[in-house]
Amino acid sequence: MTEPAPAESTADQPTGWTEVRRVRCGKPTCRCRTGPGHGPYLYQVWRDEQGHRCTRYLGPLPLVPNGNRQRAEPGGTG
Ligand SMILES: [Zn+2]
Repeated sequence: MTEPAPAESTADQPTGWTEVRRVRCGKPTCRCRTGPGHGPYLYQVWRDEQGHRCTRYLGPLPLVPNGNRQRAEPGGTG
């Protein structure tokens, strides 16, 4: 009998995590200078093979679905 070797499963692994952060534009007259900042914005955070922390801007909160709104066409012969 042979013991089963631990199978290395690399599928379906979570790609980092998401963080909600606020940013400052840097303008001296902007309200974000003394306030909490712009946002909140959603960022995707993960670590690469070297263990470096990587971030990617996803978009402002709340996230809006990227789609076109259906507009009601003006009908009637008013
Ligand atoms: Zn600002």
